Amino acid sequence: MKPIDSSTWALLDLRCPRCHQGKLFSYPAYYLNKYTIMPEHCPVCDLAYEPEPGFYWGAMFVSYAFSVACFIVGGVGTYYLLHDPSVWVYVLVVTGLVLLTAPATFRYSRAIMLYLFGGVEYEPRYNAPRGAPKHVVK
Ligand SMILES: [Zn+2]
Repeated sequence: MKPIDSSTWALLDLRCPRCHQGKLFSYPAYYLNKYTIMPEHCPVCDLAYEPEPGFYWGAMFVSYAFSVACFIVGGVGTYYLLHDPSVWVYVLVVTGLVLLTAPATFRYSRAIMLYLFGGVEYEPRYNAPRGAPKHVVK
């Protein structure tokens, strides 16, 4: 698998922040009973995906921001597209939007938490195949 040079693209593709190759999640997002499962370590560079116990509690705040964005987009969209319907329509639309985006919200919240607060930077030398030396030859 070709490594991604940009950290932004690696985050959007849910890749390891250190090698930009290993996937952060074990299953695709549409496996609704398994979309939360992360491997303990990166399968390429062996980075621990949970730097400390309880690390991902902070992802709740990122998730909250995503949910507020869903409320705003859903509310404003409903207002303009459906010409200010009754309140239960807003509740249905916003609830549906939040539930539909829940897997993506969960995953990107964790990825953003790991990229911003995990203390890990991209190191291209970790792109070497598993078992190859990780040091830089001078
Ligand atoms: Zn990695």
